[in-house]
Amino acid sequence: MTRFEGKVALVTGAGSGIGRAVALRLASEGARVFCVDLFEQGVTATKAQIEAAGGRAEAHACDVSDEAAVRACVQSCVAACGRIDHLSNMAGILRFDHFHELALADFRRIIEVNLYGTFMMCREAIPHLLATKGNIVNAASTSSLAGLPWGGAYSASKGAVLAMTRTIAVEYGRAGLRANCVCPGDIATPMSKSPRMPKGADFSWMARCSALNGPKGPEVVAGVIAMLASEDGAHINGEDIRVDGATLS
Ligand code: NAD
Repeated sequence: MTRFEGKVALVTGAGSGIGRAVALRLASEGARVFCVDLFEQGVTATKAQIEAAGGRAEAHACDVSDEAAVRACVQSCVAACGRIDHLSNMAGILRFDHFHELALADFRRIIEVNLYGTFMMCREAIPHLLATKGNIVNAASTSSLAGLPWGGAYSASKGAVLAMTRTIAVEYGRAGLRANCVCPGDIATPMSKSPRMPKGADFSWMARCSALNGPKGPEVVAGVIAMLASEDGAHINGEDIRVDGATLS
């Protein structure tokens, strides 16, 4: 018996990086995974990878910052799979700017995707998760917990995701729904590979913070999310788990 046999997981950002690793991991443990991403090509590839390994998956293109699209996405998941047991909100965007040069439009876009997208996915999925006594894992970040130079908009979005997740946890815990965050840092994905840096910014300090031997792959985050999503995490609610190789220690 695998941990997610008979369960359905909706994973956003499943076309790349951590989201894809989560989709593959949950599917490998028996979940039927509804893979969601802005880019159809990415989720189609993830679905193909899951099916090649003998798992079950659907691919769905959706902009998580679009309210109507999010509503339709959750409805499609329930129509196709019949239920939702787990929601992983991994879709996200990042950009670096000197704070005093940060354009309102860029700040707003990061909030729309990282915070509003997570909010709307949770809101639409919660009635279905209450029916299954399911759970949510949201992607916060080490920047939810400590300053991230040049990441003003991103850290604002991720701090809010953490606060919002704690509220979901205490509001719905008695009804059997759990909500937790992972706070990754130092994870090698397309997002973290050579981001565009503003003039004069030096990011080499970050590499020096890791207590481990360099960045790790997205699988290390997927393993923690699988634990939180499973019965092994049954008494973990409202928690934020750093998966950062001690970057913040
Ligand atoms: P990634 O860029 O590899 O994957 C992010 C995915 O989100 C992409 O497939 C992208 O297409 C999708 N996406 C972007 N905008 C979207 C939208 N509007 N609608 C739907 N999908 C959209 O990045 P990743 O490193 O795998 O990041 C996954 C999550 O983990 C993000 O929320 C990120 O902020 C968070 N995170 C990552 C790190 C790290 O070190 N990589 C650290 C902390 C937090």
